[in-house]
Amino acid sequence: MTPLRVDVPGVTYHQDLISCQVACPVHTDARGYVRAIAEGRFEDAYLIARGPNPFASICGRVCGAPCEAACRRGKVPRVDDDGAFVGPDRPIAIRALKRFVCELHGPEAKGAESVLHGVENFGPAVAANAEEMAALLRSTLDGRLERGNGERVAIIGAGPAGLSAAHDLALLGFKPIVFEIEPVPAGMLAVGIPAYRLPRAVIEKEVEVIRALGVEIRCGIAVGRDISFAQLRREHAAVVLAVGAKSSRSLGLPGEQGPGVFGGVDLLRAVSLGQPVPVGREVVVVGGGNVAYDVARTVLRQIAYDTARTAARLAGTARVSLVSLESLEEMPADTVEIVEGDEEGIERLNGWGPVAIERDKAGLVTGVRFRRCLRVYDENKKFAPLYDDNDYRVVPCDSVMLAVGQAPALGFLEDGGADVEQFRPGWPKTDPVTLATTAAGVFVAGDLAHGTRLLIDAVASGKAAARSVYQYLTKRTLTKHAVTSHLTLDRYRRERGYESLRRTPVPLAEPAERLHHPEALVETGYTADLAMREASRCLDCGVTPVFDGARCVLCGGCADVCPTLCLKLAPLSELSENDDLRAAIEYAFGPGADLSQHSAILKDEDRCIRCAACAMRCPADAISMERVSYTTTWSTQ
Ligand SMILES: Cc1cc2nc3c(=O)[nH]c(=O)nc-3n(C[C@H](O)[C@H](O)[C@H](O)COP(=O)(O)OP(=O)(O)OC[C@H]3O[C@@H](n4cnc5c(N)ncnc54)[C@H](O)[C@@H]3O)c2cc1C
Repeated sequence: MTPLRVDVPGVTYHQDLISCQVACPVHTDARGYVRAIAEGRFEDAYLIARGPNPFASICGRVCGAPCEAACRRGKVPRVDDDGAFVGPDRPIAIRALKRFVCELHGPEAKGAESVLHGVENFGPAVAANAEEMAALLRSTLDGRLERGNGERVAIIGAGPAGLSAAHDLALLGFKPIVFEIEPVPAGMLAVGIPAYRLPRAVIEKEVEVIRALGVEIRCGIAVGRDISFAQLRREHAAVVLAVGAKSSRSLGLPGEQGPGVFGGVDLLRAVSLGQPVPVGREVVVVGGGNVAYDVARTVLRQIAYDTARTAARLAGTARVSLVSLESLEEMPADTVEIVEGDEEGIERLNGWGPVAIERDKAGLVTGVRFRRCLRVYDENKKFAPLYDDNDYRVVPCDSVMLAVGQAPALGFLEDGGADVEQFRPGWPKTDPVTLATTAAGVFVAGDLAHGTRLLIDAVASGKAAARSVYQYLTKRTLTKHAVTSHLTLDRYRRERGYESLRRTPVPLAEPAERLHHPEALVETGYTADLAMREASRCLDCGVTPVFDGARCVLCGGCADVCPTLCLKLAPLSELSENDDLRAAIEYAFGPGADLSQHSAILKDEDRCIRCAACAMRCPADAISMERVSYTTTWSTQ
C-alpha cells in the first residue's frame, strides 16, 4: 500500500486556508464580509470591505476578483438535488456582494430602497459625507503609528496606484500632491473602463473621500510639459511615479499608419471624456483580452446611440467584429465578457492573426487581412504563434481598433530623471519590495511597477509605495504584524441547505436595454435577499473543526457522518513520513513511539464544507469548531 502523504498544520496553516483573503493583494477579509452579509450585518460588511481598500466601491463594480478565483467553494464537489456529488461547484460571487454592501453603506449610498426587500437591518452610508469618512479613517490609525512631519510628496498620476499611495500617505502624516495629465482623476478607471461597467458617480464619491483626507489632486497638469520632473524633485521630499501604461501598443503592420486606425485605449479615453469619436459603421477590433471587449462593446454602444439620435437612419447595418489570435478556450478575456459580448451582437472571430490593414486609393481603410493562427503558445506556454501560410481572409471594415496591450511613457524623465535607471525602455529598475528606483527618494507604483495587471494590484502597490516613502522620510522602520485570533464557537450552525445552493446569477439588464444608452449599466446588482442567499453559500474557511487527540476515542463516528467524505481515520504507520510529521508524533507520543499503536484523523481540506456534522456527532466532545481570523497591521520602530 502506498503511504499516505499528509501535511501537519503549522502556525499559519489555518489562516492560509482563508484562500480569498490570501489571494487579495490587499488581503481584504472577503470571507468576513461575505459571512456578515449572510447574517444581515450589512454595515459591518461594508467596514470590513473598506478597511484595507480605498477603492472598495469601485472594486465592487469592476475588480478582477482574484478572491473569486481562489474561492474554495469553486473547488469542492457540488451536491446535486439527490445529494450526489457532481463536478466542481462555482465560487461565491464575492465582487457582486461587495458592490451590494458598498451601494448600501459606501460613499455612493443614496438610499437603500432600490435594493432592499423586507430586510430591516440597513442604514445610510457609514459616514454622512467625505469629511466624516476621512475622520473615521484617521481614527483607525490613532496611536498605532508615529506620523510623518507633513513633508510634501509628489505623486505623478492619479490612477488607483497614485491615489492609493496618496490616501495612505495622508493618513501617515504627509502632504501628498497628485499631478494628473487628464482633466479627471482615477486613471484608467475614469478614462479606460467604460461607464456601462463603472458609473462615474461612484468614482467621484470615492475620490472625494481621498481629497477629504488632505490629498491635493491637480488635474490637467502633464509632468514633462507643464512642470518638469526636475522641479518636482526640488520642491518635494519624495516622488512616486504612478503613470501607468496608457500608450496603446501598435503592431507595425503595413497600412497601420493613417486615418481609420485607432489605439483601443485612446478610443476609450475619448468616449469617456465626451470627445467626438469618428468610429465608422464596420469596425474591426484586434485583440482577445478584456480591453478588446471594452473597446468593442463601447463602439457597439456608440454606434447604436448615434443611430438612435440621428433622425435620418444611416443606411446598412453596423457591424463590430472582434478578431483574436487565440481560440475561444485560450482567449484571455473573462468568460463573462465573451458571453455578454456575444449576447450584444459582437461578431467574434477566433484564431486569426492580423497581417495588414488594407486601404483604397484614397487611403481609406477597407479591411484587415488576417492569417489563420494554428497555435498561440508553445509546449513551454511561451507566446510563439504558428500560422498557416495558405489560409488568409479579409474582414471588410472602415475602422480598426488595436487592443493589443499598453506601454508606459516616461519621456518626462529626460529633464531631471537621468538617475532613474530603466531595465528596458519605459520600465524603471525597481526594488520589488520597497518599490524604490535607483534614484534617491523616487518610488514607483501600479502598472509601471509590475506591468499591466488588475486595479487591486495597483491599489496594493500604491499602498506599499506609501509605506516605503514613510520609511525613507522618517528613517523609521514599519513592521508588519499579522494579528491572528482563534475563537471556539460553542453554537456553530450553518444555514439549512447551504451546501446545495447554486451560485446566484448576478442580475443583468437585457442585451437590447444595455444598448439604449452608452452608460446604461449591464449589471443591475443583487437585491438584499439575493445577496444574503449568495453569501450563505460561503464555506466560511476561517472556521475549522479542531480535533483534541487526548479526548478522541477513535470511534470513527466523525468520518462516518461527514457528508463530503473528507475525514479518514488512519494508523500512523500508513502515513508517509516527513520532518513535520515526525516532529508532531514525537511531540504527541515521545521519541521512538510505536506507530502501529497510534492513529490520526486525516482531513482533506479541498472537500471540507465546514458543516460541523463531525463536531455534533463526536461522543467524546473531542472536536470543536474554531474560528481563525487575521488582519495585517503596521507599527513603527
Ligand atoms: C480599458 C481597461 C479596462 C480595465 N478593466 C479592468 C477591470 O475591469 N478590472 C480590473 O481589476 N482592472 C482593470 N483594468 C486594469 C486597471 O485599470 C489598471 O491596472 C490600473 O488602472 C492601473 O493603475 P495605475 O494607477 O498604475 O495606472 P493608470 O490607471 O493608468 O493611472 C496612471 C495615471 O497617470 C497619468 N499620467 C501618465 N503620465 C502622466 C504625466 N506625464 N503627468 C501627469 N499624469 C500622468 C495618467 O493620465 C493616468 O491617469 C483595466 C485597464 C484598462 C486599460
